[in-house]
Amino acid sequence: MATVTYYDEVDRLAFTANVIDIIEENGEVWVGLDESTFYAEAGGMLNDEGELAGQPVLDLKWVGDVLYHRLQNKVTGNISGAVEAKHRLIKTQIHTCQHLLSALMMKHYQLDTVGHHVHTQGADIVFDGFPEDPDWAQKIQDEANELIFKNLLVEIRYPSKEEAAKNDPSGSLDHDKIRAVIIPDIDYNLCGCLHVPNLNRIRGVVITSVSKSRGGALVQFVCGEQLLQYLSERNQLLNECSALLALPQMQVKQGLENLKQQLANANFEGNGWRLKYLDLWADSTVASLDLSKETIYVNTIDTDVKSLQHLASRMVRTPNLAVILQAKKEDGQAHVIVSRHPDFGSLKADEVFNRLKAEFGYKGGGNPNTAQGGGPYIENLTAWFQN
Ligand SMILES: [Zn+2]
Repeated sequence: MATVTYYDEVDRLAFTANVIDIIEENGEVWVGLDESTFYAEAGGMLNDEGELAGQPVLDLKWVGDVLYHRLQNKVTGNISGAVEAKHRLIKTQIHTCQHLLSALMMKHYQLDTVGHHVHTQGADIVFDGFPEDPDWAQKIQDEANELIFKNLLVEIRYPSKEEAAKNDPSGSLDHDKIRAVIIPDIDYNLCGCLHVPNLNRIRGVVITSVSKSRGGALVQFVCGEQLLQYLSERNQLLNECSALLALPQMQVKQGLENLKQQLANANFEGNGWRLKYLDLWADSTVASLDLSKETIYVNTIDTDVKSLQHLASRMVRTPNLAVILQAKKEDGQAHVIVSRHPDFGSLKADEVFNRLKAEFGYKGGGNPNTAQGGGPYIENLTAWFQN
């Protein structure tokens, strides 16, 4: 006995049926029915959701001609079930919209559909080329919405073998069961999935992005119930941004551009003051040292790596001076710079740094005048150096 389905009547959701077989395997219960409105995943369209005999349908599979419904508990006799309406609607909206967009891309740009994926919000289509027309995505979107508005019927027809063969030259489809899905004057498709009965039910489509993908075009779109959700979420986000910036929605972009420019100006100005402060610090420190003979200044400074480098290079412009400076980084590690005036004789920067490498596993290096790199923070740098 085969399961009778009603895939041509997409609005038929509730049904009663007789249990004709039960499979119990690996702790799972699969209930075979003589009829069902549930659609089992095929052709890229996902399983229907819904319930059967008061239990959620956990999974679906065809075994031969019988459709099995996975349930938590075994059931027998005559039972009733229903497919969840909104899930079914969204699925058929996305799928039919894909037919429509694919047909328009073929009509205007002679591009074939080579991929289609459904996501949690929206879907994508991959085409085997990228149109040269810069406005192609807008044109396709506009025409699709015009057709949706016209409320064209989506026709389901069981073609003769000859008709089916003509539309499927590869002969890979089962011509006895094949069904043609037709949007008059726009699309003829051999397809076993579920479709909305008329285009109006898609409600509308927005192409949310287009990009190049392996020589072709990747088109992301959102339609139907998902489009309302999508627009509502984005409107909420825009409202929040608008409140943060204290600007009307349509001025948010200009507001962000202004902020970005102000931030760049502030950074530029702040950096100028930072350098002035560092120079002042370096110069006053050098002035406090007795540089009548060669002196090595060792210190840990609370600053960032870039500022540490600036301080070291500024200080060793003075003859008779070498410095060993350490700064603690945000990750708890340290950066150490060893640097000297080029005429300084009693210290070679790279040799001192090699000691850090050998003792603490520091990474980095340099030359006799300056060497630097990162490694563990050294609690008492002066004591270490004097050892
Ligand atoms: Zn289809």
